[in-house]
Amino acid sequence: MKRILIIATGGTIACKKTEQGLVPMLSSDELLAMVPSIRQIADVDTLQLMSLDSTNMRPGHWVQICRAIEDRYDQYDGFVICHGTDTMAYTSAALSYLCQNLRKPVVVTGAQKPIEEENTDARINLEDSVRYAASDDAFGVCMVFDGRVIAGTRARKMRTKSYNAFDTINYPHLAVIQDGQIISYIRELKPYGKPVFYHDLNERIFVFKLIPGMDPGVLLQLEDLFDGFIIESYGVGGIPWEGEYSYDDVLAKLEQDGKIIVMATQVIHEGSDMTVYQVGRVAKEQYALMETYDMTLEAAVTKLMWAMGQEQDKRRIRELFYTTINHDLLFHH
Ligand code: ASP
Repeated sequence: MKRILIIATGGTIACKKTEQGLVPMLSSDELLAMVPSIRQIADVDTLQLMSLDSTNMRPGHWVQICRAIEDRYDQYDGFVICHGTDTMAYTSAALSYLCQNLRKPVVVTGAQKPIEEENTDARINLEDSVRYAASDDAFGVCMVFDGRVIAGTRARKMRTKSYNAFDTINYPHLAVIQDGQIISYIRELKPYGKPVFYHDLNERIFVFKLIPGMDPGVLLQLEDLFDGFIIESYGVGGIPWEGEYSYDDVLAKLEQDGKIIVMATQVIHEGSDMTVYQVGRVAKEQYALMETYDMTLEAAVTKLMWAMGQEQDKRRIRELFYTTINHDLLFHH
């Protein structure tokens, strides 16, 4: 039997009802006890790392999860992280950058309903996750939720209440799990060599969502607080250039001051391409902007934190940002 470690961090899956609403209170052992069938799938140990609503998760917690995996990597064949769904896509993307070259699987999962409720999705999600983590072909960081296996960098929470909370964005499912059967759509060779774990993230990243008429001066007000700016633009990507609210001077100043600027799009599917319209192309020709292309915002944010945590040099940060990691990026110019 494969040896699997379940690492509990909190989330709805571990919640109990209180007068103030749902609070994560169940321990990792209690979670396991709720799904006895798991004992037939793998030899499972548990670790209670934290007990948080994932709204309270910060980058430091991602590093803590990474270290927990790293410290026990040789003792187990796979890892299952129980997590709140609200920031689960950020954590699974962050772990994709913090834990690289893995020959073993790290499966992130959670639930829309507490495990103690009758109509919960928690029990099947946990069982599927252990099953996937114990399968021979699985490796790397992924999310298992509602019978779907999503690459760690491609998940997005799309529904606040339904069981199919997550979609995979701009990438196919890696596999589906139906009635305990894993059907793999994407099979790859496992990487060679040793796993590589990183511990440094630059948290000074700001995501700025454009709305029509937004004063670009806001960015200058924030400049001292952040090293990297991700500007969520519209469509395939562009920057307002006309009249009073032109971003021209602001981008010039940010660039001059050594800030990293990345253009993203508010449109979830199909990604950016700033070369299409004049409003994008002009900005791109004038400044050393990067683009997220087909990456999710969750991947772009955590990748930039990771890249800027490793490197200071703009050229090196760019190289890392445009390196495909755990299926996060399919195209860039
Ligand atoms: N607020 C909860 C959390 O993210 C939601 C969930 O787990 O589904 O921890």
